[in-house]
Amino acid sequence: MLRRTKIVATLGPATDDPKVLDEMIHAGVDVVRLNLSHGTDEEHRTRAETLRNRARASGRQIGVLADLQGPKIRIGRFIHGSVRLFEGDAFVLDAACPLDSGDQEHVGLTYPQLVEDVARGDTLLLDDGAIALWVESVTESQIHCKVVVGGKLSDSKGINRQGGGLSAPALTEKDREDIVFCAEMGADYVAVSFVRSADDVNQARDLLRRAGGKGGIIAKIERAEALENIDEIIDAADAIMIARGDLGVEIGDAELPAVQKNLIKHAREINSVVITATQMMQSMIESPIPTRAEVFDVANAVLDGTDAVMLSAETSVGVNPPKVVEAMSRVCLEAEKQAVARTSTHRLDSIFGRVDEAIAMATMYTANHLGVTAIAALTESGSTVKWMSRISSGIPIFALTRHVATRRKVTLYRGVYPVSFDVESPDIREVNQEVIDELLRRGTVRDGDLVIITKGDRSGVEGQTNIMKVMRVGEHIVQPNGEIS
Ligand code: PGA
Ligand code: MN
Repeated sequence: MLRRTKIVATLGPATDDPKVLDEMIHAGVDVVRLNLSHGTDEEHRTRAETLRNRARASGRQIGVLADLQGPKIRIGRFIHGSVRLFEGDAFVLDAACPLDSGDQEHVGLTYPQLVEDVARGDTLLLDDGAIALWVESVTESQIHCKVVVGGKLSDSKGINRQGGGLSAPALTEKDREDIVFCAEMGADYVAVSFVRSADDVNQARDLLRRAGGKGGIIAKIERAEALENIDEIIDAADAIMIARGDLGVEIGDAELPAVQKNLIKHAREINSVVITATQMMQSMIESPIPTRAEVFDVANAVLDGTDAVMLSAETSVGVNPPKVVEAMSRVCLEAEKQAVARTSTHRLDSIFGRVDEAIAMATMYTANHLGVTAIAALTESGSTVKWMSRISSGIPIFALTRHVATRRKVTLYRGVYPVSFDVESPDIREVNQEVIDELLRRGTVRDGDLVIITKGDRSGVEGQTNIMKVMRVGEHIVQPNGEIS
């Protein structure tokens, strides 16, 4: 059985050995993530190149997602690496303190303007909420706090304000430079951190296009404000990532499950693609098996309808990255057997404005109700298969395309598998037969199976899909002399 839910795995020091990478590819990684918050351009470039070489060697298509750091606000460093804060202690976030001289009383800030964004009564959460500070007073350069939840606080931990509302723009100077780097590297997706509005997404896309990059833009949903502008953000982006780490800190962890479920449902309804991210297999950074709670988390995201599930530190610095991918894959496959993961109401009340979208919907309806074994879509941009994969189904959707960029883009779509395919023959029957031969070669279909092929009258033109053809494998074989038997 082909896994439908895609696995995004972050590369890092733990995956640099090509042998490890090979094992991860073998275990079924679909997209790799380069986290631009860490490491140098050179490291990322080498990782992307090695990955592509190894993927080619194993005949797999794997997407590359570059994740911009964004305006993550951090404390500076401590003279001794860390301090221990106790409930009731006074502690100052101090824009005037040099970034490397924090101590028990105060610590520096990477974003000095933070002082303008906070006021008495605010709660600031450090280290993904592990430490909570209550703001007592704010001066020109200092935020005087009382420790509400104490603990060990070490160098460069992140700061969030409960409830959101920090002013930092989504694209920093570093992000702008990194976007040019993403274009050079040929990233298939660029993820924008701390998106507030469609404008942030559009700006990133403009910068990427101006630098010659063709990749899609992913909006990371990790600010409270993003939820207020969610429709325009989803429309502007090619996909969204539910970045549960920062989002949970801003809106509260207890709100996360409902937000995740609603976001996935809503995004799919309006034809977008969703990655569910952060701490999915967290314990496997150190452990050889996931906790039961992690197994449930991954399975529930699959049942919610996510396109992809993501691994962060579990693979980038984990003890056994291939094992994490294997475990995640196993859980996804089992969850996908559940009826809810395969049934659909097919948008019966919708009116479609586009012929190609209507063909995609008709294909899914027919496939799910007729008992079809596989769908093969001849596609240029990949939009037909994206629409198809918005409908729940157990039937594989093959994206047949001559464009490598499209093959890489669809690595993120649930239930969609990229196939390199070039239409050469002008004879439509011959093309159909080539498609079926390709599916036979993959062992996906057998004689007597039903297959749906979609395509356009004019191949090579985007947005032209207007044909849905149902074929039975083994019938209508075109002979070399052009006769049909
Ligand atoms: P990050 O994003 O790992 O880049 O912070 C994910 C998250 O916040 O969940
Ligand atoms: Mn984040």
